[in-house]
Amino acid sequence: MSQQEIPNLLTGTVSSLYIHVPFCQSKCHYCDFYSLAGADSQLVQVWHETIKVELQRLSREAESNGVSILPLETIYYGGGTPSLLPFEFLAEELELCRELFGIAETAEITLEANPEQIKTEETAAEWLTIGFNRLSIGLQSASDHLLRIMGRRHNKEDALRAVCFAHEAGFCNISADIISGLPDAQMSDIEETLAFIDNLPLTHLSCYALDVPHDSYFAKMLAADCSRFPDDRLEREMFHHIREVLIDRGFNHYEISNFALDSFQSRHNTVYWRAEPYLAAGPSASSYLAGIRRSNPASLMEWKKTVLEDGPFSADTVTEIISEEEAARESILLGLRLLSGVKAKDFQQRHSRDYRQLFAGQIKKLSQAGLLNFDGDTLRLTHEGEDFCNIVFREFV
Ligand code: SF4
Repeated sequence: MSQQEIPNLLTGTVSSLYIHVPFCQSKCHYCDFYSLAGADSQLVQVWHETIKVELQRLSREAESNGVSILPLETIYYGGGTPSLLPFEFLAEELELCRELFGIAETAEITLEANPEQIKTEETAAEWLTIGFNRLSIGLQSASDHLLRIMGRRHNKEDALRAVCFAHEAGFCNISADIISGLPDAQMSDIEETLAFIDNLPLTHLSCYALDVPHDSYFAKMLAADCSRFPDDRLEREMFHHIREVLIDRGFNHYEISNFALDSFQSRHNTVYWRAEPYLAAGPSASSYLAGIRRSNPASLMEWKKTVLEDGPFSADTVTEIISEEEAARESILLGLRLLSGVKAKDFQQRHSRDYRQLFAGQIKKLSQAGLLNFDGDTLRLTHEGEDFCNIVFREFV
């Protein structure tokens, strides 16, 4: 990190905003994000009216809570399925952000979109006109049989059309998600997905290993027949193959699960990995400001009540006050996700401590196990450490 990149944690300034859109057409079989299946238009209207109030209250109440909101450098609409929202709602909300906080001229403004919602070039063009300049598309796989198993509503053809329409409309920064380790997946499915994306104008890829949340449909499948799920060894082989091919195609593997061309690293997600502050709005959304983590209720109606009655800085939304000791651990935990690692001098500048002394035991143990490497300047995960990052992170919790 350069001097300029050291976050303003202690001064309580913030320039990133996450907005959670809690609606999906149906629930995918691996998902435990808070979202309501069905996207009832009356509920969408309730969400839209409430998010406007929440943004206004954030702006009004920030300073009295020691937080200065700078013109926004990143805005991220996640969910749920933000691409389900009517254009006029999105336009009104972004305009409100501009009025309340300001939006930096070079801001990264991301919309998560599902392929089946990008049916025409005009749809994507409209998002561009409103102000979005980055799309994150839920591709997940190019194998139709795996898309069906996941309960996705699109097929390979839809995904091809969606990315092409977005690109033709003028989006120059398009990311796609891929999942490895899906039930019934073979290496040939990974090959098919890699061949498919080779022809797409993508600037960024997020490649996640399947995680099976407790109350998901996949959890029941796993309990019924675990042999359908690739074991860890095969899942890692799949990921290694993806990594090798993407690097070969010129993508920079910059975070454990993320790859980008040139300067297309996700600026918004990098804020999380650097443990920098961010605002959040919408049900279940979590913010991190001035060392305090707050989470909104994961229920549309409870969130509405909290926003209207208590406001964004209510004591009830505080889920964690991060002590200096915890902040130091988080800097390592999150910073190691970035493959550029954590520089000793940046850590010293931020926490006024030397991590080589503070975490001497952990660094020695994990280095001896071949999971961490310190080159005299920067602490990084080794390739093996990337595969066993949970073991590494557990040592710092
Ligand atoms: S569309 Fe996305 S948020 Fe909605 S259920 Fe599927 S994975 Fe979850």
